Amino acid sequence: MLAQRTNLFGSSGTAAARAAAKAAVDGGKEIIDFTAGEIWSDLAPAIRDGAIDAINSGINRYTDTIGITELREALARKISHDTSQIWKAEEVAVTSGAKQALFNAAMVLLNPGDEVIIPAPYWTTFPAQVLIAGGTPVFVDTRANGYVPRVIDIQAAVTDRTRAIVINTPNNPTGAVYDVPTLRGIADLAIDRNLWIIFDECYGDFVHGHHTHHPIASIIPEVRSRTLIVNGFSKSLALTGWRIGYLAGLQEVINAVKAFQSHTTSNPNVIAQHAVLAHLRRGDGSYESRLRSRLASARQIGLNVLSSLTRVPVPKAAGGFYFYLDLSRLLQSASGNDGPTTADDIVDSLLSKAGVAAVSGTTFGDPTGLRISYGIPPEKLRIGLSRIVEVLNAWE
Ligand code: PLP
Repeated sequence: MLAQRTNLFGSSGTAAARAAAKAAVDGGKEIIDFTAGEIWSDLAPAIRDGAIDAINSGINRYTDTIGITELREALARKISHDTSQIWKAEEVAVTSGAKQALFNAAMVLLNPGDEVIIPAPYWTTFPAQVLIAGGTPVFVDTRANGYVPRVIDIQAAVTDRTRAIVINTPNNPTGAVYDVPTLRGIADLAIDRNLWIIFDECYGDFVHGHHTHHPIASIIPEVRSRTLIVNGFSKSLALTGWRIGYLAGLQEVINAVKAFQSHTTSNPNVIAQHAVLAHLRRGDGSYESRLRSRLASARQIGLNVLSSLTRVPVPKAAGGFYFYLDLSRLLQSASGNDGPTTADDIVDSLLSKAGVAAVSGTTFGDPTGLRISYGIPPEKLRIGLSRIVEVLNAWE
């Protein structure tokens, strides 16, 4: 009945985990939900005012397919600031969330059979979109190296059919932040083997401890012409529902994206565009600082609770707002005793025994991982994590 391409993807695993949590709530259970890839927060004042002003001005029409010029100019200024290079509005497309930016990139860059290297564990949408675009995802396991890919492993995965590498730093789900030598190695490889770099920096505003986020084009300027920057405001402004993201790269690519987007969604929501523009013009950075310090304190609360784990290492949580637990040791010992064999079993137990919802690493190509989002209210965070520690420590 359906097209063959529907066999290439299922519903996003994180969405499925959210749905399982909701079903438990609907069934009358009190659940602490750690599945969401979003931050619990109020709205940035300039976003609210910008949207209301746009509505009061009667704004209601289509805009340019890839966004109003003023917003693209403001984004070009932001990217210029982030990368210490000059970017023009013609090199930026506004999209309905970063997800659309990634999809556009896949659709305008990939030919059937092209291979795309994706470090694993990975955010599930990366391989799904590559497959939809006719490409083949090729995974590089990062687990043995603290979830940062080793350049030699990426090098070993490159073939004559490799077309692109996806770099997501800070990483969802692992929270890894890629260091400069790694980025430099990947950039050299991309230049040497003539590859595109899809650089997803949606979590770039959230780095912790001594870690720093480095836009790849700022470190190796020669790589800029083969890099597509993907970013958005879902995470940095806690604005998931407003659907504003962007893609920046060679004008030729952006022109192709504009043509493609003109046949899919047309422009992103006009009110949301004006709201983000107002924020970029009027925001003084205090909202972002508050968000960052709220997350820093949630991270610290979480790490304190997780330090009581006995058979699972305390996660590094270098970036983003995820604790990614490595359950491999626990699974090894527990499975011999009729305990859980994969992270899926652990997720099921957490939900049924402890009323806590988290996302199994299986979703991210890693049956030994567990993703816990700490962008939730602090009182729930402490209780929920304590329950997780209790369940995980109970397995022999
Ligand atoms: N990229 C990564 C790594 C993400 O984790 C997400 C959302 O979870 C996105 C892109 C998409 O974000 P949005 O489409 O909401 O801007």
